[in-house]
This record gives sequence, C-alpha cells and structure tokens, in this order.
Amino acid sequence: MRLTPLKQPKPLKPLAELELCEKCAERTGIEAGELEIVDAERCIYCCGLLSKIEELRDRILGDLKEYEFETFLVGTRLEGSIKAFEEYLQDSYGLEAERSIRYEFNRELSLKLQEAGKIPDFDRPDVTILFNAEKREFEYRIRPVYIYGRYIKRVRNISQTRWLCSKCKGKGCEECNFQGKRYYTSVEELIANPCVEIFKAEKAILHGAGREDVDARMLGNGRPFVLEIVNPKLRRIDLGELERLINEKSSPKVVVKDLEMSDEKTLKFIKGAAFRKKYRAKVRFERQVEEEKLGEAIAQLSNRVIQQRTPLRVLHRRADLVRKRRTHKIEVLLCKNDLAVLEIEADSGLYIKELVSGDEGRTVPSLSELLGVRAWVEKLDVVGVYDKNNYG
Ligand SMILES: [Zn+2]
Ligand SMILES: [Zn+2]
Repeated sequence: MRLTPLKQPKPLKPLAELELCEKCAERTGIEAGELEIVDAERCIYCCGLLSKIEELRDRILGDLKEYEFETFLVGTRLEGSIKAFEEYLQDSYGLEAERSIRYEFNRELSLKLQEAGKIPDFDRPDVTILFNAEKREFEYRIRPVYIYGRYIKRVRNISQTRWLCSKCKGKGCEECNFQGKRYYTSVEELIANPCVEIFKAEKAILHGAGREDVDARMLGNGRPFVLEIVNPKLRRIDLGELERLINEKSSPKVVVKDLEMSDEKTLKFIKGAAFRKKYRAKVRFERQVEEEKLGEAIAQLSNRVIQQRTPLRVLHRRADLVRKRRTHKIEVLLCKNDLAVLEIEADSGLYIKELVSGDEGRTVPSLSELLGVRAWVEKLDVVGVYDKNNYG
C-alpha cells in the first residue's frame, strides 16, 4: 500500500494586507517588517476612526447638547469586523488584551472631552457614553438625580405611589372614571410632577421608607423618601427653590422638607430600612369602656411581641404568613364612652388596625382580645418615623 504524500503546506507569507495607521502600528507593537504603515483612512484596524476623534467628540457634544453634565465615562464596544480583526491579531501576533483598541478609543475620546471642559469619573459619572466602533454609533446613559427629603401627607385617601386601576391597568375605563388609576392623585405625583418639569426629565419615581395606608395621614416629622429623577436634562437645581415650588403646588395635601442631593446608596438604605413608627389611632369600641380597664389592657399590650398573620384586607396581594413585630410604648390620650385615642410606638411593619381589632384572631394578642370588647380603628395617622437622625 502506497501512501499518498501529503501536500506541503504553503509557507505563511507575511501579511501584506496588514495595513495599519501609525497609531495602530505603534500600539500593537508588531515589527515594522510585518506591516505597512498607511494613511489613517486605509487602516484596517481602526478604520480611520482614530484620526476622527475630534469629529466623534463633537458628535457626542452635539447629541448631548440639551443635557447638563459635568462628569462622564466612555466605554467602547467592539463587534463585527473590528472585533474579528483584533482577535486575528491576538491569535497570530500575540496581541495582549490590554492593548485592545477599545482602550485607545476610550482614552482618546476622554482626552478630547476633557479639552472641552468635561471631567472623567469612573464612579458616578453624570453620563456614560457607549461607543459602538463598528456601527459608529453612540449610546448614552444619563445618571438619575437623587433627592432625599421627608414628606408630610395632611389628607387621607391619597396613595403614596401611583396606584393603577386594577381593571384596566392604567388605560382608563368606566370603573376608574377613565383616569387609569384608583386614587385621583398620589404623594408621588404631587412631588414628582414639578420635579419632572424643573429637571426636564422623563419621569420621577418616589421611593419611600415604608408606606402608610391610603386612608392614613403622615404627620409629625414626615416620612423619609428618595426621589429618583430619570433622564434629567438639568442637574443643578437650587433645592430651596425646588422645595418652595413643590410645596406651592402640592400644599395643603402634601408638604416636603429637608430636601438634599442624594445617591443610590441612600436610596438602597431607605428602601431596606425598618424605622420604628409612632401612630395615633382613633379607636371605637362596641360598647362603653372604662378608662381603668382600658389602661390595664394597654399595659399588657405594650412592649409585647405581636404575632400577626397577613391581614385579611391585604391578603389578596400579599402572601399569607405570620410576622412577629414588637410594640413599644402605648399611651391613652383620651378615653370617653365608646371612644379612645391611642398613641402607639411599634416596629416597622406592625399592622396597627389589626393590633386593635384582632383581625378575626389572626393578630395575637390584640386590644379587642385583651378587653373582651370588639374594637376597631376609625382613623389612623402616622405621627413619627424614627430614622437615625430624627426622633418623633
Ligand atoms: Zn488605525
Ligand atoms: Zn380603569
């Protein structure tokens, strides 16, 4: 049996087609004999882009001309032919990853933007500029503006955030009087709308440190919140002036105070916080209750761990589980006939209406149970949210 001799492989010829501009040649460090230096226009690596940095910079500034920004970060995305060519250089010439043309674009664009008075920021840039070198396109991510503050809600039947109509999901139907929402306004809308206008933003989202019931007022020192202003065109706003403007439009229903510039970290903290609360509850009893008996029941209910199964009234939107929360100080402010006003301090998340009524045995112990008289909350206000800086 004769073996067919294998064909000799063709010797690899130095690539005449390795035509690079000076900048690319220098960066790749490929020996001069293996490439040909050409005009930037003909460079098959950067496709001439490295000679057009100023033009690209002007495009960025043009695209963002309506946006106020001071700090920026540039990122480059490689795909298509530029990416393929770079991989070829890595495989055939051992081009190191840190010599990727991505960094060259990032650096060159950054330098040009700095010449235009902008400041690079790797942590929290006002705008992140994403350059797609293959498509020669830019994408921009505008960092939201975050504002911390506290709100006071002086009226009942306003939800904290927009509450869409459950029937039409916001489109508008007969059920919701073609408003698309369940309540005619919300704390969120009252605070956000003026901000959207002032910051020339797309929208604004309210993140509260917990929320009160729709029919409860939020009084006292107010509830902490962070307002996230999405895609703002303006960033530098006088917060004193903003506070005045919000209050002018939303008062007397809602008032904001203590506005200050904030960040994602505070937003996270606010959302995860479990601040202790102080409530004032107007309680009605099925029959007259003696002050002394009420005092005894209140003493038993104070500083106690309360077991609460998810209240019947929220069972349709929350999982049925048992929570343990503690009551702290409870005070009787008034007791007359079949009426009492109580001030209750409790852990975040304790359901006060159920603490009074017992919720058909789902909350143990409860005021009803301890008194042996049916009781329910007629009116409820939150009068204090205790964060680390504020007490009552
Ligand atoms: Zn080049
Ligand atoms: Zn509807």
